[in-house]
Amino acid sequence: MHKFLMVLIIIFTVLGSVYSQQQTHICSQSKIDYYTSLSKFQNVNYPGDEKIDITYYKLDVAIDTSKQKISGVITISAKSLVVGLNKIFIDLQNSLTVNSVMQAGANVIFTHENNLVNITLDKSYNIGEEFTLFIDYSGTPGNSGFGSFEFSSHSGTTAIWTLSEPYGSSDWWPCKDTPADKADSADIWITVDKSLVPVSNGTLEEIVDNGTTHTYKWHNKYPIAQYLISLAITNYELYTNKFVTGEDTMMVTHYNYPENLNTNRKNNLDKTVSMLELYTELYGPYPFLDEKYGHAEFGWGGGMEHQTCSSMGSFGSSIVAHELAHQWFGDKITCKDWHHIWLNEGFATYSESAYAEFVGGFSAYQSSIANEMSYAKNATGSIWVEDISSVGQIFNGARSYAKGASVLHMLRGIVGTKTFYDILRAYVADTTVAYGVAITEDFQRVAEKVSGKDLEYFFSEWIYGENYPKYRVDWSSTDANDGTYDVKVNIKQNANSTPKFFIMPIELLFNTANGDTTIVVFNNARTQNFSFKLNSLPNNLVFDPDNWILKHLSGITDKENENIINYKFELSQNYPNPFNPATTIQYSIPKFVETQNLASQQWVTLKIFDILGREVATLVNENQKSGAYEVNFDASYLTSGIYFYKLQSGSFHESKKMILIK
Ligand SMILES: [Zn+2]
Repeated sequence: MHKFLMVLIIIFTVLGSVYSQQQTHICSQSKIDYYTSLSKFQNVNYPGDEKIDITYYKLDVAIDTSKQKISGVITISAKSLVVGLNKIFIDLQNSLTVNSVMQAGANVIFTHENNLVNITLDKSYNIGEEFTLFIDYSGTPGNSGFGSFEFSSHSGTTAIWTLSEPYGSSDWWPCKDTPADKADSADIWITVDKSLVPVSNGTLEEIVDNGTTHTYKWHNKYPIAQYLISLAITNYELYTNKFVTGEDTMMVTHYNYPENLNTNRKNNLDKTVSMLELYTELYGPYPFLDEKYGHAEFGWGGGMEHQTCSSMGSFGSSIVAHELAHQWFGDKITCKDWHHIWLNEGFATYSESAYAEFVGGFSAYQSSIANEMSYAKNATGSIWVEDISSVGQIFNGARSYAKGASVLHMLRGIVGTKTFYDILRAYVADTTVAYGVAITEDFQRVAEKVSGKDLEYFFSEWIYGENYPKYRVDWSSTDANDGTYDVKVNIKQNANSTPKFFIMPIELLFNTANGDTTIVVFNNARTQNFSFKLNSLPNNLVFDPDNWILKHLSGITDKENENIINYKFELSQNYPNPFNPATTIQYSIPKFVETQNLASQQWVTLKIFDILGREVATLVNENQKSGAYEVNFDASYLTSGIYFYKLQSGSFHESKKMILIK
C-alpha cells in the first residue's frame, strides 16, 4: 500500500519529495485503537484455520447501493492438511449474516460466532483431499483498518471501494483471513446497477445484462492473497495503454473518475508503460502478464496494490511506481505475515528510487534514497514488526517503508549494483516463494546464494536490530620518509543502539596530491583502528562517499557531515481528515534563509485555531533545524467542527483546514 492515510496508503505526488512520502504512511490513531480493540486481532499472528489449504475462491456478490448492503455466495475450495478433517472454520465478521452453507447441493451444519463460521463438513477428509463450500451471506460490510469496504461518492455519483489490508477481508466476505494462504485461482463476479462499472482483479471474462443490473465476471488464473482481492465500483471512464514485451502484448487499463481524466492525468498514466519496462528489466517479467495491469481510482488518499489493478487516490509518478512495483513485491511474493511487511513496503519504496534513477540517473537515485534514509532515522523498533496487532505499527512509514528501502540500498552498496539486481530477479523467480509467500529469511537465503556472501550479520542487525550506526571517525597520516605515508583511521560507534554496534563494510575515500584512493574496510568492532600505506600525501578523508550506509557521522572535520537535503517550506494536509480524535500533521522547514546553514535553527510554531480564530492548541513552539517533521494532534477535548492549523517560521506561514467529526 502506499502510505498515507487512514486507511492507508497514499503516496506522493511529487517525485523525490520527502514530504509527500512521509505523508503517505500515516494511520489514524483512533482507527488503530479501534482496530486493536477488535477481538480478532488479539491473536495477532493470525493463522486462520491451519488445517486447510485454500485452493480457490469465487465471490459472486451483488451490491445494493441504496441500502448499502452486500449479498451473495462465496465458493471456497480447500484441501485438508490433516487426517480425518470434519470441522473447519472460515473468518467472517459477526455483523454479516450467513444464510446457509452448502456442500454438494446439501446444507451442512454451521454456527457463526466470534467472527468465525464454524462448519461441520459432510464427511471426513484426509490429507490432500479437496472439498468445496458455498457460503450464502448478506449484510452491511464492516469498515475497519483503512476502510475495508466503503460506500462513498464523487461528484454526486456512488463510489464503492475496498481496501482490506491487513485484516479487513472478513469485514465483507467469508475467507481465510491471512496472507499466508493464497488461493491458487479466483473468480470475482460483481452484480451492480447498470450505471456503475465494477472493476476487480484479473481478466474481465464476461458482462451479463440482467435488466437493471449487470454482472461483471473477473477471473484470476494466478494465485492471489485474500487481502489483494478488491472491488472498485463507480461510473468509471476507461483509458488504456498497451505494454508490449517480447512476444506479449498486455493491456494497461486505467479506470478513472470521468471528471478527473484530463490531459495531465493521461500523461501520468502513460508513464505506467515505461515503468513496466523498467521493472521487467530490473525484476523480471511482469508477474500477471496473461491478465492486465491497471488502476482504479478510489476515495482513499493513498494507493493500494490490489493484484493487477491498484486502487489509487492520486496519480503522481512515485505512487504509480510504488504500486506497480508491489505487483512483484507484495502480490507475486507476499509477506507470509505482517511481521515481514518490509518485504512488501520496503521493496516498493526502494522501487520509487529505482524509477527516479531511470528518469534522472544515479544522482537522482541518490537524492531520492537520501530522502528515504533521512526519514528512516525516525524509525523506532526493528523493521521486523513486533506488534502486528497495530495497523499503525505495521504500516509505519519511517520503519516499514523508508528504513526498509534503505536496507535494500545498503545491500546494493555491499554486493554492487549488478549483483543486487541479480538477487532481486532470483528472489522474484525463486520457486519456493514465487506466487507464494516469504519471510525475511527467504530473501536472505537468495541474497547469500547469489552474492556468495554470508549476510547473516547484515539481516540480523538491520531487520531485527534497531536504530543505525553513529560513527565517530578520526584519522592521521605520517610521512614515512620513504615516499609513502602511514595512515591511521579510528572508527568508533556510539553504544546507544541495539545492536551495540553495526558490522558493515565501509568505503574510505582519501583525496591525495596524486588523486583519489578508495579503500574498503570491514568494520566489525565498536572501536577499531585501521592502518594503510598511501603513496602520496592524503589531505582529506571522505567516509562512505556514495552514502551507502544509513548513519550519523561525526569527526573527520569535527562537525556533522550527514546528507544534506534541501527541504522546502511545506505544510501537508493532516491525515486522516476528517478525524476523530487524533490526526497527524507533517511539515518541513527549509534551511535558515540568512545563513543557508543546515545546522542553524529557527523558531517554529504550529498552532490550532477554531473557526472563530481562537487558539485551541500549540503543537510546536521551539527552535528547529531544517528537516521534515511530523506531529500528532489529539483533539479528544474538543468538539466536532472545522479547525485550522497554522505553521509559522521566519517569514513563512501557511494554514490549512481540518475537520473533527465525533
Ligand atoms: Zn506500499
